[in-house]
Amino acid sequence: MTTSYDLAVIGGGVIGLAHAITAARRGHRVVLIERERRANGASIRNFGFITVTGQERGQSWELARRTRDVWAQIAPEAHIPVEQRGLYLSARSPEAIAVIEAFLATEMGEGCRLITADEFRAATGGLGSDDLHGALYSPHEIRVESRHAIPLLTQWAGEVLGIDIMTETVAFSSVPPRIDTSRGVITAARVVVAPGDDFSTLWPDRIAAYGLRRCRLSMLRLADPGMRLPGALMSDLSLTRYAGYAALPEAAALKAKLLAEQPRHYDNGVHLIVAQGGDGSLIVGDSHHYDDLPGPFAPASAEDDIFDEYVRALGRSPPPVLERWVGTYASAQDRTFLVDTPADNVRLVIVTGGTGASTGFGIAEAVLNDLMGDA
Ligand SMILES: Cc1cc2nc3c(=O)[nH]c(=O)nc-3n(C[C@H](O)[C@H](O)[C@H](O)COP(=O)(O)OP(=O)(O)OC[C@H]3O[C@@H](n4cnc5c(N)ncnc54)[C@H](O)[C@@H]3O)c2cc1C
Repeated sequence: MTTSYDLAVIGGGVIGLAHAITAARRGHRVVLIERERRANGASIRNFGFITVTGQERGQSWELARRTRDVWAQIAPEAHIPVEQRGLYLSARSPEAIAVIEAFLATEMGEGCRLITADEFRAATGGLGSDDLHGALYSPHEIRVESRHAIPLLTQWAGEVLGIDIMTETVAFSSVPPRIDTSRGVITAARVVVAPGDDFSTLWPDRIAAYGLRRCRLSMLRLADPGMRLPGALMSDLSLTRYAGYAALPEAAALKAKLLAEQPRHYDNGVHLIVAQGGDGSLIVGDSHHYDDLPGPFAPASAEDDIFDEYVRALGRSPPPVLERWVGTYASAQDRTFLVDTPADNVRLVIVTGGTGASTGFGIAEAVLNDLMGDA
């Protein structure tokens, strides 16, 4: 290992990896420091859904477009299969169709289109409820299986890009040039701290100033339904959850309707994403419960609500459950990510909108332009 680096990155989740990989591809000498034997947090527990359509209008949407392009480029280099492409968001009411039409009229609708109920059924092998009115189709998304993709990305970062990967190593300080770790001192000119939802090890006072909480999500893996989905699926509730749709004026009427019809789904923060892996199994979720320290005890009602929305949207019973898990991520009410400068030549980067797989590479490019003077 080198003893002196241009950049030390603390945190081996997708945000730390995005910074380390971007810097190494630009020719910098990089070390990545991760507490666990391998990343085990939000970055491997998510859908692996690199989402463009539905991201908050403006900066987040632009960052997601860039991030999707980077994933599309590096996934084959890192031998990461792209499991799915595109998104089908089904709509069960005129109010939901109105939101989709309003979305399509914005710049974010480029390349997307409204499809009929029959077109949705034809594309999905007959899925869809009796009250299906139509669906939004977006070609922009790609999906990877995060539990495999993040280890493969880490391996590629080390073996091909030459990043020194230090696992089972905790960073206790991050003021360059000296970084104290549980395995000794590392020297680096600059540091990126990407701690996910660890708010207490590094720069706790700086993080506290942003008033962050954590969000806990319930997730499921279901057995292969015996058919291939053409892309990831979402439904009406997503139109009131994702800011790219929910901030449109037309979303207010839809939200009022859904709140009256499905109040518990909102209590549990449930909306529906159905993604499919190469083995045919479905990754299905999710719920959202916010707290300073969410416990590991996910209410059964959240899972019931996910299944209820599955049946309402797809008109089929869900296949048997193969796995259940919860994940947590950092959450803020007023921003989708933060970049803080707690000391000279240090950047603290936390994605606070549950979208790190979708925006991480775009954020990393901007952070490194500034921090490394790469621009
Ligand atoms: C269930 C679920 C579903 C999601 N679905 C999606 C999705 O489909 N698409 C999407 O874009 N986003 C999704 N997200 C959000 C996305 O997963 C997160 O935004 C992203 O993973 C955050 O990445 P991170 O690297 O900041 O955090 P993490 O993945 O939590 O990684 C942080 C790492 O830093 C390490 N660390 C912290 N402090 C130290 C230290 N002092 N020393 C050494 N190591 C340290 C930790 O061990 C950890 O491995 C989802 C999240 C969840 C939980």
